[in-house]
Amino acid sequence: MSFAHTVIEQPRHEEIRNYQLNPDASANLKKAIADLKTFPTEVPLVIDGKDRWTTGWQPQMIPHEKEKILAQYTPAGPAEFRQAVKAALTAKTEWMRFSFEARLGVFLKAADLIAGPYREEINAATMLGQSKTWFESEIDAACELADFIRFNCYYAHLLYREQPLAAEHEWSSLVYRPLEGFVVAITPFNFTAIGGNLPIAPAIMGNTVIWKPSCEALLSNFTIMNILREAGLPDGVINFVPGKGQDLSEHVLTHPSLGGLHFTGSTRVFNLLWENIGKKVADYEAYPRLVGETGGKGFVFADSTADLDLLADSILNASFHYQGQKCSACSRAYIPESTWPDLWSRLESRLETLVVDTVENFEADLSAVISQQAFDKITGYIEEARNNQTSQIIWGGEYSDEQGFFIQPTVILTRDPTSKTMQEEIFGPVLTVYCYEDNEMAETLALCNQTSPYALTGSIFSNRLANLELMENTLRYAAGNMYINDKPTGSVVARQPFGGGRKSGTNDKSGTKLNLIRWTNPQTVKRRFI
Ligand code: NAD
Repeated sequence: MSFAHTVIEQPRHEEIRNYQLNPDASANLKKAIADLKTFPTEVPLVIDGKDRWTTGWQPQMIPHEKEKILAQYTPAGPAEFRQAVKAALTAKTEWMRFSFEARLGVFLKAADLIAGPYREEINAATMLGQSKTWFESEIDAACELADFIRFNCYYAHLLYREQPLAAEHEWSSLVYRPLEGFVVAITPFNFTAIGGNLPIAPAIMGNTVIWKPSCEALLSNFTIMNILREAGLPDGVINFVPGKGQDLSEHVLTHPSLGGLHFTGSTRVFNLLWENIGKKVADYEAYPRLVGETGGKGFVFADSTADLDLLADSILNASFHYQGQKCSACSRAYIPESTWPDLWSRLESRLETLVVDTVENFEADLSAVISQQAFDKITGYIEEARNNQTSQIIWGGEYSDEQGFFIQPTVILTRDPTSKTMQEEIFGPVLTVYCYEDNEMAETLALCNQTSPYALTGSIFSNRLANLELMENTLRYAAGNMYINDKPTGSVVARQPFGGGRKSGTNDKSGTKLNLIRWTNPQTVKRRFI
């Protein structure tokens, strides 16, 4: 219980540390990388605060050094998933009665640990386990995760202040209760920050959580779990249970006390989970909240007045950094015929400078894609384009999985704006460009709006206000995050609230009040003075 309403200061964004310019920080990061590579880390399940082990070791490999095991774990089975449910339900009684200051204090401490003493460790785990360059890791695992936590705490305390009007002889309050039951967080491989944010956001609001991390991001996600424990998170509030999705679906998602699902990952998996939950809808004690941020097919749309250097920089950065494995990545570009030759010469000269290597080379711009499965899927798209009469690979197209899962940045030029690589999420370093007739901008905008089922990110480039207005209006629902004369990636917590519509998710904007509200079950209390 709280006897005051503490004011939390608006946080400042965590500053990006430049490991190339800071020799001490760079040496620390290199040491953390070497330490993690000495022997595989054994990652337990954490249920009710205790480490648990089952049988049958499963490895997390280093994608750019595919024979090397980074970490290993024993997956949760039905029994462990059931124990996790019990632990979450038991811990809930006490956790939801804590004052909001006590709850938030734990997480703000965790943010300081991430940004401080654990910064190199969490970056090293992300770089090795998810093949992120130092920069991609720093903006994700250190900065974005700390920002998510700090801003969510700040927004939570603002939310608690939002109260109904009073009247004569009565007061009313909105009590932001957590959801009844427990929340399940299922997290993707590609952002360590999302791994941490999905269980933490509901827990900030007083919920207890079962967190199934992606096994492809196991070590970085386990580092977060350990940091939370060190920050004082009570046992059972977040239970870390890597295991088979199918077991989780059967033993946790069907439980009558399921209060909510906080998911980020592919549209296919979210559809499946929604469908399974839908089938059981009559069995739940309350309607579970379903929040899912899913796939994308980010686009760049330019007219003939666009600034070509800005356009080339934006396309390059958004299409290829982190190997195109960002949900926001630019995967298709619409360029006027007259502009293309000049843009291509700029793009070509920039593509020549990209370094593809292991992330231990701090000069690398790109590294390996996450897994053999991802490699096979992405190279399948490249081969499909190679054999397609309407498409031409004009850059890259080479790949090798000998040492690790390396795919060269690839540019496809297509004459068919509805070709497979213009429509489907590839999630790799592959960009498809469609050149449109200069006098067909309006028709091409309509096409861009309808070509893909996704609506996550998009960028429009022009120096003519009327064209920007037309683009913005035609593409109003084509992106949950729209950028004007800027790249479609790189959203910053609290500046560009992130999330998309259509088949890109429920658009609940992680890291904002809109998302936190989903983890509450508000109760109105009217108090009449007698
Ligand atoms: P994925 O869908 O393969 O896996 C996501 C999570 O779901 C993992 O933890 C996985 O183990 C789990 N899972 C898989 N099958 C399951 C099942 N049957 N039951 C329960 N859980 C199951 O996605 P991924 O490869 O980890 O991540 C890439 C995808 O995530 C891309 O589609 C990308 O666009 C999307 N993504 C979206 C956003 C966003 O904000 N919209 C952000 C990051 C990633």
